[in-house]
Amino acid sequence: MAVIINDTCINCAACIDECPVEAIVDEDDNPTGEEYYYVYPDKCVECVGYHDTPACAEACPTEGCITWDMPFTAENKDFFSGANYLDGHNYGINDADAEMPFRDDISADDRKARKPVVED
Ligand code: SF4
Ligand code: SF4
Repeated sequence: MAVIINDTCINCAACIDECPVEAIVDEDDNPTGEEYYYVYPDKCVECVGYHDTPACAEACPTEGCITWDMPFTAENKDFFSGANYLDGHNYGINDADAEMPFRDDISADDRKARKPVVED
């Protein structure tokens, strides 16, 4: 991904129209079955080329709700494969064409720790 929306989401809809690539779906379309919003990792570009920071997280009123996740790259193919990932879907990052832009100033440790995108 990219970024993850966690279970502190209050389904307020503030984020969805801020996403420049329509990567966010609401609770009715969350493929995990959870009752809150979801970001598709194969669509999210971390707002690279659109904004200085992820627009969804800037708009979100819930502290810590939107966090970093691993970059959607072939190097992390296994992370985004089937049971290893949130929605159980095998995203199949088979070549560089499937990779998504990500912010290289965010460390792997912060991503693994799912650090909030916006911190007070
Ligand atoms: S970081 Fe940007 S591209 Fe990714 S879901 Fe949020 S608004 Fe969309
Ligand atoms: S802005 Fe935050 S709390 Fe509101 S729907 Fe999006 S992720 Fe959930």
